Amino acid sequence: MTADLVILAIEDEPQLVRFLRASLAGHAIRLIDAPTGAAGLVEASTRVPDLILLDLGLPDMDGVEVCRRLREWTKIPILVLSARGQERDKIEALDAGADDYLTKPFGIGELLARIRVALRHSQRGPGASEPVIETGNLRIDLALRRVLRAGAEVHLTPNEFKLLAELVKNADRVVTQRQLLKAVWGPGSVDHTHYLRVFMANLRHKLEDLPARPRHLMTEAGVGYRFRTET
Ligand code: CA
Repeated sequence: MTADLVILAIEDEPQLVRFLRASLAGHAIRLIDAPTGAAGLVEASTRVPDLILLDLGLPDMDGVEVCRRLREWTKIPILVLSARGQERDKIEALDAGADDYLTKPFGIGELLARIRVALRHSQRGPGASEPVIETGNLRIDLALRRVLRAGAEVHLTPNEFKLLAELVKNADRVVTQRQLLKAVWGPGSVDHTHYLRVFMANLRHKLEDLPARPRHLMTEAGVGYRFRTET
């Protein structure tokens, strides 16, 4: 990470802010913080940080609303910090444009990993991702619509491919069920989560060595799915 990385934490728990500041300082990251949504929106626009950590339970406004307002003008990566029991808010925040989430309590190792992935995505920019992804024994060519597993061609149905492509385009980030259903089956199908269970099972059987213990096609319980690459 570069020495100049600035992260804005919109978070009202002083203890968590202290923990973040102390842990991130050791990784050459400067933390600025805002204890309310309103202050966070001001800091975001005046300091223009490299990344935003956004608490969903803020004293003055809903974190989801903060996320929505940020996305009106900026693509700065947003990592949502949620407490257990905020499942619905977390999903809403992801649908509103947040990049990823962490459930409290989280370790610093996981936080740093998520920060690295989010920054990598933002530097690549939208639409500029690689057309070919190679990870483990998989080779996925999004442009030619070809999938190889251990060198052998895998036949996917059109919807299986669309689902895989949507996950791969967002590699290492969680994609909500709603996002996936919309991308593959259209906006009228966002409630048909059983489609996803069936199609993900099919994809795992075709692409994973051990479908019951997937290495790439990961379930994010209650939220969505994540295509995990091996680094
Ligand atoms: Ca809070």
